[in-house]
Amino acid sequence: MREVLHFIDGEFVPSTDGATFESVTPTDNTVIARVALGGGVEVDRAVAAARRAFPAWAGMGPEARREILMRVAEGIEARLEELAEWETRDMGKPITAARTKDMPRSAYNFRFFADYAVQVGTKVWDKPWDGVLTYELREPLGVVGSISPWNFPLMLLTWKVAPALAFGCTVVAKPAEQSPITASILAEICRDAGVPPGVFNVVHGFGPASAGEALTTHPDVDAITFTGESNTGRAIMAAAAPTLKKLSFEMGGKSANIVCADADLDAAVTGSLRGIFVNQGEVCLAGSRLLVQRPIYEEFLARLVEGAEAWKVGDPFDPTTQMGPLVSEEHLDKVLSYIDLAREEGAKLLCGGYRITDGDLAKGNYVAPTIFADADNSMQVCQDEIFGPVEMVMPFDEIDEAIEIANQSRYGLAGMVWTTNLDTAHRVAREVRTGTMWVNCFFVRDLRAPFGGYKDSGLGREGGDYSYEFFTESKAVVMKLGG
Ligand code: NAD
Repeated sequence: MREVLHFIDGEFVPSTDGATFESVTPTDNTVIARVALGGGVEVDRAVAAARRAFPAWAGMGPEARREILMRVAEGIEARLEELAEWETRDMGKPITAARTKDMPRSAYNFRFFADYAVQVGTKVWDKPWDGVLTYELREPLGVVGSISPWNFPLMLLTWKVAPALAFGCTVVAKPAEQSPITASILAEICRDAGVPPGVFNVVHGFGPASAGEALTTHPDVDAITFTGESNTGRAIMAAAAPTLKKLSFEMGGKSANIVCADADLDAAVTGSLRGIFVNQGEVCLAGSRLLVQRPIYEEFLARLVEGAEAWKVGDPFDPTTQMGPLVSEEHLDKVLSYIDLAREEGAKLLCGGYRITDGDLAKGNYVAPTIFADADNSMQVCQDEIFGPVEMVMPFDEIDEAIEIANQSRYGLAGMVWTTNLDTAHRVAREVRTGTMWVNCFFVRDLRAPFGGYKDSGLGREGGDYSYEFFTESKAVVMKLGG
């Protein structure tokens, strides 16, 4: 049993009242950690520490911060195996993905932003004919609250914390209650790398009436960067309104994956399988509405089902496993209830559609890769984010129809199109209202590019300059020139 404490002002501490909660592993739903349960008192202490630490950290400048943050990246790499194992134990993702994707990317988030902050500049508006020179100063914003989800616990936490620290802010992080462990290991790494006390703090707890809400309502928190469900975003926006915080939200999705008849089918099949089954389908960017052009509909479905049935589900610690258990029993029930609903709404089940109860897997939250065909976009299962390994497939005739279906959604986070026709690719990319569109690929990222969502999927953008804008204030300096 691991004990997980808050990290406040450079020290690991329990809650003042000693309150804790349990973290279970989804492989068999047994308790693996006792976690300090924070609330207003702990958030107050963490915010006060972050405020005290802010002037020195902001004033240190990006080059000195870069040295420290590079050591954090090295610390993540040095403890990669340990981090990967705890991430897998805590939330069920396959160990191979944790080792080769999440943890290296978490280190890279620090390297990328530590470098970026050194190189980024500001703008100048030169107007000599009026004798005026205007330039922009950018200054670190202040104390940032980071609220993150459980599906990529360390990767998404570092995607927020690394730019905030690199651009000179101090942070109070509230990791997801389902997967708190790697955030605490990151705190040890930061301490050992020389991040000064108070610059990075972690308070564990829940959302409403707990540490999350205390952070969003705190008068001395300047901004909230949040990733999670759209309804949580609504609650945070309302809670943050009285103190007028700057907000950045990355939220849910129900992205369309469009496969045209002229596509490279091998690539499209592989990409579509990954697009819905990677990370148990617990991916905001998942291509969970699959639109296939009618001439290849039957052939494509046959190949997709073949791939789904071969997708290896099982113990996430087995390096050959492709899909582990869903994060919690509660989430398992939610996904299974959507599978029932898909049947009731008249979609045709092609494979999966059940909880796996073979041998030891019965103790965990395992669901078979599930594909429903002949769905209609008006079904609730095509409109709600299921956040599990459940694909809803629909046929289309002309590309206009596919674009229309893709846009009939309250979400707009991502999308994919598989085609060898350049005009089709450009058209889909332009006309689907979504934050990221992948053409003949999936999940590929350049951290300089904007990342975020249209409609209910997001507010603002993260990445490169977009994170720089969020984590800094902008000031115009206007100088009268002589002569
Ligand atoms: P969630 O919204 O339930 O929780 C996310 C975080 O918010 C947790 O730390 C939680 O404790 C906290 N929280 C909940 N209610 C709160 C409140 N009232 N005030 C303050 N904090 C509160 O989301 P989840 O179930 O952890 O994650 C899954 C969701 O996240 C999905 O909708 C998924 O699409 C989305 N997501 C989006 C992205 C993206 O980049 N757009 C990435 C990953 C996940």
